[in-house]
Amino acid sequence: MNEANRKRPLSLDLGPCHGCMGCVEMCPEIVGWDDETERPYLKRQEATEEEIRDAMACCPKDCFEFTDE
Ligand code: SF4
Repeated sequence: MNEANRKRPLSLDLGPCHGCMGCVEMCPEIVGWDDETERPYLKRQEATEEEIRDAMACCPKDCFEFTDE
C-alpha cells in the first residue's frame, strides 16, 4: 500500500488554534466546524496523509499531528 494512503491516528491541538477555518475549507471531509466553540473538530480520529495534507499545510499554527510519529 502506498504510504500516503495508509490510515494513521490524527490529533488536533486546539491550544494554539486561532479559528481561521482554513483547515475546514481545505479538508471538510475530515475537519468540521463547531459553531459554539468557534473551533474545528476532527470528524474522525484517523486519516491518510493525502486526506489531511492540505489542512496541515495551510494551518498557520501546526495544530494537526499524526500521533504515531
Ligand atoms: S487551520 Fe489551524 S489555526 Fe486555523 S482553524 Fe484550523 S486548526 Fe485552527
